[in-house]
Amino acid sequence: MIKSLENLIGSMKKLPGIGEKSALRYALWLINNSQDAKEIAKNIETAVNLKKCKICRNLCEDDVCDICLDSSRDKSTICVVETIETLINLESQHIYNGVYFVLWGLISPLEGIYAKDLDLDKLKENAQSAKEIILMLDDSIEGNLTAQYIIDMLDGNIKITKPASGIPVGYNINSLDRLTLQKAFQNRIPY
Ligand SMILES: [Zn+2]
Repeated sequence: MIKSLENLIGSMKKLPGIGEKSALRYALWLINNSQDAKEIAKNIETAVNLKKCKICRNLCEDDVCDICLDSSRDKSTICVVETIETLINLESQHIYNGVYFVLWGLISPLEGIYAKDLDLDKLKENAQSAKEIILMLDDSIEGNLTAQYIIDMLDGNIKITKPASGIPVGYNINSLDRLTLQKAFQNRIPY
């Protein structure tokens, strides 16, 4: 096979859920749609250079994200999420006016991810002036391990809540439909 096609297929296969067949299909599509392909390449180039907000780890173009800079947001409520997918979901529903903290992962001894690999010291620092910490994490072994670690770390001095009961056991936070997420978020309960 031509080397550059082989390289492109190899790159495609790195994407989650893309196998050999799909990789070939996408690679050929890109080659056949060179204008779109160039735009995709340009957008990837820009997006991968985004920074993480130095306060909350949200993605941003500068040092601090728009949410942290917004003086109308309630800095005393911090919603902890694994990825910005949850943040985007909540923001699109306009149901939350606090701030966030993005972990970019969950504690997972099986995958070799430990508390030190997440930026929990920064969360602890931010939590010092907070009144409520909302843990919007998956109901999974990793989600619960991470939640427990955060609860222990914050040492009982702060109100910690999670999405309400009534949502399915073992939920994946980003798989909940809009209305369920909204209800679960608004009717949150103590952890
Ligand atoms: Zn921020």
